[in-house]
Amino acid sequence: MLKWLGSLTDSNEKELKRLQPIVDDVNSLEPEFQKLSDAELNAKTDEFKARLNDGETLDDILPEAFAACREAARRTIGERHFDVQLIGGIVLHQGKIAEMKTGEGKTLVATLPLYLNALTGEGCHLVTVNDYLARRDAYWMGPIYHALGLTVASIYPQQNPDEHLPARLYDPEYTDEKDARWPHFKPISRQQAYQADITYGTNNEFGFDYLRDNMAIDLSQYVQRQLNYAIVDEVDNILIDEARTPLIISGSAEEATEKYNIFARLVPQLKKDEDYAIEEKERQAYLTESGMTKMEKWLRRDGMLKAPSLYDPANYSLTQYLENALKANALFKRDRDYVVKDGQVIIVDEFTGRLMLGRRYSEGLHQAIEAKERVKIQRESVTLATITFQNYFRLYKKLAGMTGTAATEAEEFHKIYKLEVVVIPTNKPMIRADHSDQIYKDEETKYKAVAKEIESFHKQGTPVLIGTVSIEKSELLSDLLKRRGIPHQILNAKNHEKEAAIIAQAGRVGGVTVATNMAGRGVDIVLGGNPADREKKEWQQEHDKVIEVGGLHVIGTERHEARRIDNQLRGRSGRQGDPGSSRFYVSLEDDVVRRFGGDRVKGFMDWAGFDENTPIEHSMVSKAIENAQVKVEGYHFDIRKHLVDYDDVVNKHREVIYDERRKILEGADLKTNTLSMVRDEIEKLVASTCSSGLIEPDFNGLIGELNTIFPVPPQINPGTLSQMRPNEITEKLIEYAEQLYEQREKEIGPEDIRLMERLVMLRAVDGLWKEHLTAMDHLRQQAGLYAMRQVEPIVVYKKEGHTLFESLTAGIEHDVVHTIYKVSLTRKEAPPQKQPQKATVPAGKKVGRNEPCPCGSGKKYKHCCGR
Ligand code: ADP
Ligand code: MG
Repeated sequence: MLKWLGSLTDSNEKELKRLQPIVDDVNSLEPEFQKLSDAELNAKTDEFKARLNDGETLDDILPEAFAACREAARRTIGERHFDVQLIGGIVLHQGKIAEMKTGEGKTLVATLPLYLNALTGEGCHLVTVNDYLARRDAYWMGPIYHALGLTVASIYPQQNPDEHLPARLYDPEYTDEKDARWPHFKPISRQQAYQADITYGTNNEFGFDYLRDNMAIDLSQYVQRQLNYAIVDEVDNILIDEARTPLIISGSAEEATEKYNIFARLVPQLKKDEDYAIEEKERQAYLTESGMTKMEKWLRRDGMLKAPSLYDPANYSLTQYLENALKANALFKRDRDYVVKDGQVIIVDEFTGRLMLGRRYSEGLHQAIEAKERVKIQRESVTLATITFQNYFRLYKKLAGMTGTAATEAEEFHKIYKLEVVVIPTNKPMIRADHSDQIYKDEETKYKAVAKEIESFHKQGTPVLIGTVSIEKSELLSDLLKRRGIPHQILNAKNHEKEAAIIAQAGRVGGVTVATNMAGRGVDIVLGGNPADREKKEWQQEHDKVIEVGGLHVIGTERHEARRIDNQLRGRSGRQGDPGSSRFYVSLEDDVVRRFGGDRVKGFMDWAGFDENTPIEHSMVSKAIENAQVKVEGYHFDIRKHLVDYDDVVNKHREVIYDERRKILEGADLKTNTLSMVRDEIEKLVASTCSSGLIEPDFNGLIGELNTIFPVPPQINPGTLSQMRPNEITEKLIEYAEQLYEQREKEIGPEDIRLMERLVMLRAVDGLWKEHLTAMDHLRQQAGLYAMRQVEPIVVYKKEGHTLFESLTAGIEHDVVHTIYKVSLTRKEAPPQKQPQKATVPAGKKVGRNEPCPCGSGKKYKHCCGR
């Protein structure tokens, strides 16, 4: 491990050395660019574009483009890229991850490669961790791009009911008088936002737009262009933490509310250890013999058992409810794993404490928790479209990322995304003092000590930022502080915008801010508070005072499950050469210690002779905890790797289907396609009728089958067919089918028949694709059972998945062939209506559910293509 890190450091040094000459080039161009008038600077963009057209590469023009961007930034927002920022920019342009500490100005760094890469006209995306940053950063950097003649837009999730798929364009000529903060943000459509040279947005919005596009029934509804180049900000958070839950667009299925309620009532009557056992590490709960007997008795009493034993296949549908109810009760804790807000169960990200709005635990667990909490049970959903972030981001031609903490996860970035990490030096030396951990016997003493320490810092005027692992812990600490009469702010990633405003003031004299990890991420903590809101002189005084008392002090109340998250928290202090300090407090009752590091740490503590109130501060304990973290990191990596391994199987299918869909919408030659499907189908039918030489072929059966495709004319009958050899039959039938098709084309008109081909195919593809997704989901659950039989579940999943995909394509052909001769267009031109969409079901359809289906089947849309 150490050796590997060593080589990483070496190659990092080499990499940085290699880039230095480019930085020198940019610097030497500076005087020349400073002399340009604003108009001349703006004209550089067209010049670069022309040169790209003439065959120069992006690398050729990089030094000049960077020089232009730097000059534009200096003139517009008054920030001139530091040399280390140029290095970061080059690394991002090369499609790598730039590790740059918090406060190093990554927002500004990204403008360089974004500008350069947008010169191709293919569109560049900047991915942010939340909707507030998607707007703030686009607006903040907007003047730079504008000065260079490029457009920049922002997409973000719905903020209020009349803002459907919102998007904004930075445009100084537009002014919204009501918006004091971002007046020059012009509302535009999503499509226009993607037409902009540069688009800022959250990972969820980009991903959902992609899925919605691939559900659209007309090319004009597509909002995205080809995915060209993306820079992911806070890349570890998005590509690692967020990557554990895939994006899902779902519709609702049947209700089974009652069953959830019954189990939610029964399960709490079971006793821990006696009736069920818990495996904390795996987050599993199992019934014991005694638990099983009890459940069987109760269920029999309620008349729910279909066979005496609970694990009889006849009761299979019940066991899933049972397992989920058990998990919901024994393992999932309110305010730790989820919160209940406005009658909804909302998942809390285990790493970051952030609320994952709209995401649901899968396979019925969410409903089980809803039943436990006695809130309305949302209908179970069927998957309409889904993709993991891993596979979404792999779609980009070029991907890059930036964050303060990537190096510890270098292996994962490399293995999953083929992203290399380059550690960029800080602009000024880092002088923050990181003190070693203090270890307490239990949580209570630990929190008392934390509160005491906060008090003493607060008294001397040093601002303190306290990180907690959950909302629950934040509130616990807040109570302690209240009792001591210490004024403080508490935030938990619920409202990004409000929290940004609060965290921006966390560096004021005597400030005490309690926050979960994600709260206010991306917002700069300036010592002395946010200078933007104050008079310069007053701010300067406060700033100097905070420096005098040691800068920002960061307290971690628990080690997180990954070292990276600890480092993120620490990194909030010591930005751009500021003074600062940090310390973590740990107790033997902490999750990480208990679940993963328990025995070693405890052993050491016993040996060291441990008394209640004196904490231990010893590098060996810190080391043991760190080892535990490495173990957890590995464990989570495995889970994510697993998720990707499985998604990779469906991903191949998705690529084929989405590609086909696109071709259909783009007006591929569907006639040839359809006719070849017809030929295929006829060949199959004839072959199966005439396959056996012994038995008399069943020509009546064949004609019956053919009649389900098109009306068979009288001249084709068992008599005539029996006179022919099989391949003559095939030829004759195909000839007839083609003739009939031509005839229909004449009657209906080529334009309409093309439209019918398109709609029939789309309907077949979309309908069966949805079924396929559900089938793959089931397969995945079943595959898990193979683990018990010493067969790798993933192997089974791949093999069976392939079979399912083959039957999907066969099914599409079957559907198309069996529909195409029957449909007709009834033109009742109800123009497609735009429906307000629920945020949770962003399905991108524009046809009303009760309107006649545009495919002309005569059925309502909801019973036909809209199924
Ligand atoms: P990061 O994302 O790396 O944590 P930010 O992009 O939020 O950092 O920037 C941190 C602060 O540094 C901001 O206040 C920004 O204005 C300032 N900053 C960044 N680059 C420069 C620069 N080249 N010159 C002056 N100030 C800068
Ligand atoms: Mg940032």
